[in-house]
Amino acid sequence: VIEIPPKSAHALLVRAGEILKVSDVRGSQVADFVCLSSEESAEYFSQARTRVNNWTTRLTVGHVLFSNRNQPMFRIAEDTVGVHDILFSPCSAYVYEHIYGVGPRDGCYENLARALQGFGISIDQVPDPFNIFMNTGIDEDYSLVIRRALSAPGDYVNLRAEMDCVVAVSACAADLDECNGGECTPIALEVIAT
Ligand SMILES: [Zn+2]
Repeated sequence: VIEIPPKSAHALLVRAGEILKVSDVRGSQVADFVCLSSEESAEYFSQARTRVNNWTTRLTVGHVLFSNRNQPMFRIAEDTVGVHDILFSPCSAYVYEHIYGVGPRDGCYENLARALQGFGISIDQVPDPFNIFMNTGIDEDYSLVIRRALSAPGDYVNLRAEMDCVVAVSACAADLDECNGGECTPIALEVIAT
């Protein structure tokens, strides 16, 4: 088991057929998940294709994470929470400066990019994520809403790889809103062979 410290990210290779278990260690902690084909980095996770191809903004067991080429990359095999986000880009230096008015500081975007450097992926290639455990919505006036993550300690999502992927996961760095319950904590990763 790999424990990702708060406000950092980790990248790894996950082969087709393997299961990546993403666990919330202490509760109310979001994990930003991105992946790219390990064969060709021009094929990568598409948040928009995933929304439309599953016709939902609420992914859970049975839903598929699609690439920009409409190929299945991961399938959600288990999910103990059922509330995750596919609306938001990762928190980033831009978001902290322009939306929260703080910084300079890095967000999940920069942390994911740093983790993916070792796999030859540049910051411009970091896809918008599947935000595991992130509790979001759209208000009556159509504005975006972020609420405290509903995950309890030990809650997890099992993602079954449908292709060989380079994956990066960040323990979300947001401590200025409700997102992570006001405190950033670790995320655990485990690759399970099947
Ligand atoms: Zn974040």
